[in-house]
Amino acid sequence: MTILVTGGAGFIGSHTVVQLVKAGHAVVVFDNLCNGTAEALRRIERLTGKSVPLVEGDVRDRTALDALFRSYQVTAVIHFAGLKAVGESVRQPLAYYDNNVNGTLVLCQAMQAAGVRKLVFSSSATVYGSDAPVPYVETLPRGRTSNPYGTSKAMVEQLLTDLQVAEPGWSVVLLRYFNPIGAHPSGVIGEDPRGLPNNLMPFISQVAVGRLPELAIFGDDYPTDDGTCVRDYLHVLDLADGHVQALGQLVAPGLHIYNLGTGLGVSVLDMVRSFERVTGRSIPYRVAPRRDGDLAAFWADATKAQRELGWQASRGLDEMIADTWRWQSQNPQGYQD
Ligand code: NAD
Ligand code: UDP
Repeated sequence: MTILVTGGAGFIGSHTVVQLVKAGHAVVVFDNLCNGTAEALRRIERLTGKSVPLVEGDVRDRTALDALFRSYQVTAVIHFAGLKAVGESVRQPLAYYDNNVNGTLVLCQAMQAAGVRKLVFSSSATVYGSDAPVPYVETLPRGRTSNPYGTSKAMVEQLLTDLQVAEPGWSVVLLRYFNPIGAHPSGVIGEDPRGLPNNLMPFISQVAVGRLPELAIFGDDYPTDDGTCVRDYLHVLDLADGHVQALGQLVAPGLHIYNLGTGLGVSVLDMVRSFERVTGRSIPYRVAPRRDGDLAAFWADATKAQRELGWQASRGLDEMIADTWRWQSQNPQGYQD
């Protein structure tokens, strides 16, 4: 009775592995380490006292997956593995469709052959598209996506929907994440982007620790209270708990979609000021032009997850910031420290 976690050496995957182990699940991680590290799993062992096996491999490699399904009695798969940088996806669309869409296709084929039909998929709020009214609610149709990353998530959602219709024995949960930030409160694992961070929170924390000189705020002329973009930031451990709870939905066959967010909007300037207040560090910033493809404001209607999964984000913004800062200040160079 093992949960296979693809991409379990990455940011959200590693935190989910900790919560799965804490909940008593046996776990095996499958990851090609293109954006994750085996060090995360060594640290998970330190945190949980349990060793989690890492099988190094690529989800597009059917032979490697078949071997894994022969070696482990996998009951369900949580599929995090994929590429996630929006700007890079515009420059390298084929890499994104290959990794995210083809990777999921090959994984599903291997699951089908192994008789494993329970899957939780990492989707994203981006699938609501640019014209959806806020807050985003699961009853809205998927919208027009504005970059290959978002389109790859929408394509996988469709692929999994079609599969579940064709083979009703499958149990599939699509989790649409809003903006995960934070780190494990121990400071032992956290987010460690390669190169210049794309996302706001790791950028701010790398400025705070002195790795980067200043934050560029992408636009202050949006139609929001302070002119900067508004997002729904949630603690990565709340997100991880959402996956543990979603496993319960896999008992009966069907397709289930849930937003995982707090339901609260926070602007970029709110985030900078809150970070300064919580950590006592100053965050120098300048206002830069808008970033292509950014939407002014969106946040989740997360009531369905509360109603059906009993899940609700419980960690507030100050806790997200304090945990991010503990990780970053204890590990200024990330997992290389
Ligand atoms: P991450 O890059 O930290 O983790 C992804 C992991 O998958 C990495 O360890 C990487 O090495 C691995 N991987 C990538 N391609 C692989 C492949 N072909 N075969 C095997 N392993 C592979 O990213 P994350 O932030 O933890 O995101 C996890 C998932 O959640 C992704 O699918 C991402 O698109 C989705 N998501 C993330 C966010 C976010 O803001 N972080 C928001 C919405 C959705
Ligand atoms: N952002 C910013 N400077 C940065 C990174 C992000 O001003 O260096 C802004 C970005 O424009 C967006 C918000 O912060 O409004 C969240 O961006 P992120 O990339 O973290 O998440 P996403 O775009 O996926 O919502």
